[in-house]
Amino acid sequence: MSDESSGGFRPETALVLFSGGQDSATCLAWALERFAQVETLGFDYGQRHAIELGCRADLLAGMKSLRPEWAARLGENHTLEIPTLAEISDTALTRDVAIAMGADGLPNTFVPGRNLVFLTFAAALAYRRGITDIVGGMCETDYSGYPDCRDETITTLQAALSLGMDRKFELHTPLMWLDKAATWKLADQLGGTGLIDLIREYSHTCYLGERGARHDWGYGCGECPACALRARGWREYAAGRVSA
Ligand code: ZN
Repeated sequence: MSDESSGGFRPETALVLFSGGQDSATCLAWALERFAQVETLGFDYGQRHAIELGCRADLLAGMKSLRPEWAARLGENHTLEIPTLAEISDTALTRDVAIAMGADGLPNTFVPGRNLVFLTFAAALAYRRGITDIVGGMCETDYSGYPDCRDETITTLQAALSLGMDRKFELHTPLMWLDKAATWKLADQLGGTGLIDLIREYSHTCYLGERGARHDWGYGCGECPACALRARGWREYAAGRVSA
């Protein structure tokens, strides 16, 4: 990894948390429309399936070919390995157990504090690279069970990171108040049918890591909570029933 901190601040550059899923792909397009340079960051934390990480390369290549200006703006694609997160998690995403709702009302796909860890690592990397704008796909609307996706969590963390690193970070969450249908519509507005088709074909959302069956909304088992949410959002978007 190159270190550009000696070159000073890069106010026209954003760092996007990019997992290869529908939400982060939409966030990447959002950033590419707003910043002169965009770098991406994915995390390898011992997921039960590495498919989502594998989708990143296909999506990046697709976005570059979709719009020449996006190709010119896309910079480095970083990957950070944080296997410790799997060690301290006991969830369906990192172990071979079934997805279910826990007694605490949270699905066992919830990795405690995952977004806090992701954003803190992202800020540390951004600091080293002179970047202060960080973009993430956290969303309060569809994920009421995930406390680290709440807007108040993100704005509070933004203050903590800015204080703790003595640099004024801005955490952008363009999907915070959108449901999945509105997220599809945002992708349409940002990149048209080309981007929609790219996200349907290459982004990955399924918790089980299945890529076998191709549905009209993309690949996945079709049954797990993530697939169900994505499929429902697609049906609403395709039917033109989008409020945002
Ligand atoms: Zn699934």
